Amino acid sequence: MTTAKDIIAYLNNPTEADRALIEKAYSTAEKAHKGHTRYSGEPYMIHVAAVALRLSEMGMGPRTIAAALLHDTIEDTDVTAEDIKREFGEEILFLVEGVTKLSSVRYYGSDRHNESLRKLFVATSQDIRVLLIKLVDRLHNMMTLEHVPKEKRLRIARETLEIYVPVAHRLGMGRDRKELEDLAFPYVYPEEYKKVKELLKKKIGKYEERLERERKALQKRLAEAGIRDFSTSYRVKGLYSLFQKLKRKEWDIDQVYDLLALRVVVPNMEDCYKVLGLIHDIWRPLPNRVKDYIAFPKPNGYKSIHTTVATGSGDILEIQIRTNKMHHEAEYGIASHIIYKDETTGQTMNRSETWFAHLIPSLFRPFAWKDTKKKIEGVTKDKPHRDKIPLWINQIGEMYAETDSSGAEFVEDMQKDFFKHRIFVFTPNGDVVDLPLGASPIDFAYAIHSEVGNHISGVKVNSKLVSLDTELRNGDIVEVETKKSAKPTRKWIDIAHTTMAKRHIRNALEKEK
Ligand code: MN
Repeated sequence: MTTAKDIIAYLNNPTEADRALIEKAYSTAEKAHKGHTRYSGEPYMIHVAAVALRLSEMGMGPRTIAAALLHDTIEDTDVTAEDIKREFGEEILFLVEGVTKLSSVRYYGSDRHNESLRKLFVATSQDIRVLLIKLVDRLHNMMTLEHVPKEKRLRIARETLEIYVPVAHRLGMGRDRKELEDLAFPYVYPEEYKKVKELLKKKIGKYEERLERERKALQKRLAEAGIRDFSTSYRVKGLYSLFQKLKRKEWDIDQVYDLLALRVVVPNMEDCYKVLGLIHDIWRPLPNRVKDYIAFPKPNGYKSIHTTVATGSGDILEIQIRTNKMHHEAEYGIASHIIYKDETTGQTMNRSETWFAHLIPSLFRPFAWKDTKKKIEGVTKDKPHRDKIPLWINQIGEMYAETDSSGAEFVEDMQKDFFKHRIFVFTPNGDVVDLPLGASPIDFAYAIHSEVGNHISGVKVNSKLVSLDTELRNGDIVEVETKKSAKPTRKWIDIAHTTMAKRHIRNALEKEK
């Protein structure tokens, strides 16, 4: 099993306090989960340690890792919020509670509200670190999905594709996204999965040897040209991503040119263009296949040069050229922008300092880590590097406008303080209803259907009977009872917030007369 030592090994210059924090979180989690097992029968601690290890590999800081170790304690063990606050301080409690809260955002199998759900998911997380822990948590759960009872698998796998994958994609986290997709694919589309797998196998055959030969040829040419400090690797296209492409190309696999890709990673940008020239010198490039995502990055920040060539052995090969930094960003996305400095804590951390707060100001309520001083003194601060605020975050909206309208709306909504003005509530079966801030159960009822609105007899919010003028809050579960004889009154117009509800009420009152 992954030990605290394994996790600490990835930390960048950890202080004594950093080590102590992770060891303490590790042993607290180990004690709390003692005797608990996963569906696989393995000790529960395996899951928690795996999540922490992955975050550590990604370069996250000690607090995030400590929170990852504790992420299932409040929900599943006797450890309470007070315990965590006392032992680890408010900031880590905030992260653990954030992850716990995110578990309530669930996909219930209706496609209608997926975009709302993604927004709710991001909004609920409040802090990018919460989102990262949750994504990695899901990744590990997907890796062990085969042990989960059959009836639960499909829901979890669909939720992964509908909520987690798009979020990972928009955060530029290419590695997690690919893994999540390919883990969920066989559960959600078993027939298509088999078909895609067969097609790919038939098309590329035993590619390893050929690719290895081509890689060597390229290495030789680069070395001859005096480029020495580079690395090469190759990848096979992910099955789910191939499935998406095949659907657009009428299932003609010959139309897909990036089944196999050779990757060249060099120290700086000039080398990228030099390498492109050398590649075109040894292999014939296919026309119109050179894509310069360095000059024109993708909406989620992805940078690389792509070209497609026909090699001597007859392979059609995509080649991706990028710098080390671009490579790291392509794999880790937003996580690669959270950089930790050796900084002793002590002062109150101001949450508005985080660049994510600049992006979505309304997600961040003023919050002071009152007791952090005492509890985690000397622990390296998980502080995003000011200079590294990724510009692309601000550009996402603009660029999506050209390529992907749902993406544009997503980011624009965020930028326009969307969450300041909207709330998300649930029907008893889990559908999300998106309402303006200050909305009442009357607005909710009319949002469902005018007939529901016109016959409200009573309302329950979170299973409690409430009056019609109750202000709804984010995450409330609202249940409307109707009676044929119940009718709107004049007072309802004042209580209602949405124009739609007001209009329906007026119409109903008119008819009464
Ligand atoms: Mn978990």
